[in-house]
Formats: sequence, structure tokens, C-alpha cells
Amino acid sequence: MSAAAAVAPAPVSMAGPSPRADASPGARWPRALYVHVPFCLSACPYCDFVVYAGSAARGPRSLLPALAEALLAELELRADELERTVERPTGAALETVYLGGGTPSLLAPRQLGRLLEAIDRRLGIAAGAEITLEANPGPADRGDPAAFAAAGVTRLSIGAQSFVPVELRRLGRRHGPADVATTVALARSAGMGSVGLDLLYDVPGQTLASWWATLEAALALAPDHVSAYALTIDDPDVEGLTGPTGDHLPARPGARQWRERARAEQDDDRAAGLYLEATELLEAAGFAWYEISNWARPGHRCRHNLVYWRRQAYLALGPGAHGFDGARRRWWNAARLEPYLAALLPDPGGSPRLPPGGEERLDEGAALAEEVILALRLSDGLDEERLERLAAMPQLSEALARARAADLLERNGTGRIVLTRRGRLLAGELFAHLV
Ligand code: SF4
Repeated sequence: MSAAAAVAPAPVSMAGPSPRADASPGARWPRALYVHVPFCLSACPYCDFVVYAGSAARGPRSLLPALAEALLAELELRADELERTVERPTGAALETVYLGGGTPSLLAPRQLGRLLEAIDRRLGIAAGAEITLEANPGPADRGDPAAFAAAGVTRLSIGAQSFVPVELRRLGRRHGPADVATTVALARSAGMGSVGLDLLYDVPGQTLASWWATLEAALALAPDHVSAYALTIDDPDVEGLTGPTGDHLPARPGARQWRERARAEQDDDRAAGLYLEATELLEAAGFAWYEISNWARPGHRCRHNLVYWRRQAYLALGPGAHGFDGARRRWWNAARLEPYLAALLPDPGGSPRLPPGGEERLDEGAALAEEVILALRLSDGLDEERLERLAAMPQLSEALARARAADLLERNGTGRIVLTRRGRLLAGELFAHLV
């Protein structure tokens, strides 16, 4: 599962056949880079990330080597495009690189090392940058954390999801709880600077007791960061996201029935109880809540995801990946692997070109609404400067005032507007009223 994909703002409309090379006014040089690796050993039925499973992911027909080459080609073209359209500040270098998926721990360490070297050569990677790799914990797909650390990875984000074997089986996961413990131990002995666990709640058959057991088992491994996301069951086909330039793949056979059964078992009140349980247990264990679904020990907030939530510029590579120019323009690569590879790895004599995709351009009102929503996701909330700018947007100001009256928002001790605990539970509905 890609935490980065889960947190990056989604486009609200689909557009043209390929990303345009011109940036929007106010575009900034990116401080972060997301790389999507769209392969998993098998596909989980709830997952709607861009994933190819089975023979594409391993064995003699694996497409990983082709992807590794294509990412290098895309990096060159994206860097060229940036240099043509955005002024590069002196000394600019990436502060974060995030390899998400899919299962990027399927990359061979030498493929990863080569990619990071090329990124550093072309865009610069700052000293002390955060370099995150998502890893699945099973022995066949966690890779070698020591070799990843040697290649430059500083942070491992482990897709644990649950520590209850029957829940893992229901979710279609390949690993067991002991595999998570082994992966954490390997990451620690590799000297990985930060280790995070991703968990899922509101999953089929889950109870308050089984969620408690998952949280306690996670805490027993002493991670630095915990993400707890509610299982969301979407239908990208119905949402119109799976066309030739869409950023999603059509639902896999069998997945739709699984999702219908799972959705029938979900319950908003139970989900709220599970969320509150996580909040209490994690905060009692010394984790600070800093984003609706994320908690960290001091110094271990995910710097990459903060770039998304602070609406700063980021570049992206890989099928289905999204980039943002820090102002008004979002763009994405189409999800389909074949056209992605064909564009970037042409036949001999051809030249690589940017893959198909789409873009959207936000008007001033939409950009400000997005900024407000993203800021409210964070414990930092909305500052005075943003509140003053909101004065020019009476509808948005009034919606925020209503939310305060309904005890969804409050002014904290430093004068910022933040979500209340009730607001965190109802954030989805609140944000729907702000767009
Ligand atoms: S392992 Fe993660 S990315 Fe892969 S199919 Fe399962 S949920 Fe999706």
C-alpha cells in the first residue's frame, strides 16, 4: 500500500492526453520527489492503487527491470521540463524522496541505488534528506533492509495493516504478524533512522478487542511512526478514473464482490470507536498526533507527506504518479504500464517522450479551499495569515464559522484554528462542505 498515494490530494477532474510543459504562475521548484513502483507479488482485493501483480512482479517475465530503466528516462525528461518552466533557486536540492507503490521493496538494491544516484546527479538530494521506502513485511517481498540502507534509504514504512492473522487473511495479505517483527528488527539492525508501521482499521470482522490487540502488538515493536487509515472502499471505474489517461486501473476480477461484502460490514460508529481507541493508546505511548491518520515520536513526522499537506511543490515519476507545481497545476501519469513503458523505452532509433497522463489547473478559490483543507488535516491547523486571506472568501469563512459553532473546529493556545477530536472524526463531511 502506498501511504504517499493515500495522502496526496487527488485530482478533481480528468483532462487532456498528456501533461503540458508549462507551469502555472507562482510555480516553485520541487522540494520532494515521489516514485511509484507499481508491482506486488499478489493483489489485495481492497486495493485501488496502481498495481500489477503476478508474473509482472517476479520471475523471468518481471517488468521491474524495464520499469527501473523507464524511471531513469522519465527523470531526465521531467528535469528538462522543470528547467524550461521553473526557475531553480541557487543550491536547490530535494529534501525528501519517497518510493511508494505497490511494493518498492521488490526493487533490487542495485536498481534502487542507481535510481537514487541519478536523482542526486540531476536534481540534487540535500544532506540529511529523508529517503523513504515502503516495504511489505513478507520474506519474499521485504527485500534486504541493510542493502537498502546502504543504498541511501533512511526511513522504512512497513505495510503491517493488522497483527491478527485472520484479519490479514481476510485482507488478502501474504504476511503474518511475526514477519512484521522480523522486518522491524532487520531495519533497526541496518541502522535505518526511522521505522514506521501502517495499520488499517474498519476492516471486515474487526472488533474493538482485535484492534486493541493490533495496536498493542504494533507498540511492542517500538516504531517511530504509526499511520492508521480507515479501510476505504472506492470504485474507480464508477468515478471515471480508469480511462486511457486515468490515474487508476480498472477493478480486478473478484475485487468488486469482495468490496461489496466488506462495505456491508463497515459501520461508521464502530469506525469512530476504533479511531478513538488508536488515539488514546498511541498518545499514551508517547506518540504525538500530527495529521488525521498519523502519529509520530518527536523528530519522526513524515517530512515527505508534510510537503503534500503543506501544499508545497513535488515532482513524481512512475505510472499513476501525481506531481504538483506548488501553485495551481497538478498533473499525473496515466496508470497503464504498457503505454508508460512504450513512451519512455522506445524502439531503437526512437526518442523517449513523456508518458500519457492528464492535468488540472485550479482557480484561486479552489486553490485556497484546498490549502485550508490540507492545513486543517494537520495538528498545526490554520495560521493567522491564511485566516486573513480567507476574509476575501465569504463562503469559505462562513463554512468555517459554522464548523466552529458545531464543535468541529477550535482556536488552540497559539491562536491557530485546528480540528477538535469530534472534528477529526467528521473531517470527511466537514471538508466536503469546504470545497
Ligand atoms: S500490498 Fe499494498 S499496494 Fe500491493 S496490492 Fe496489497 S494493498 Fe495494494
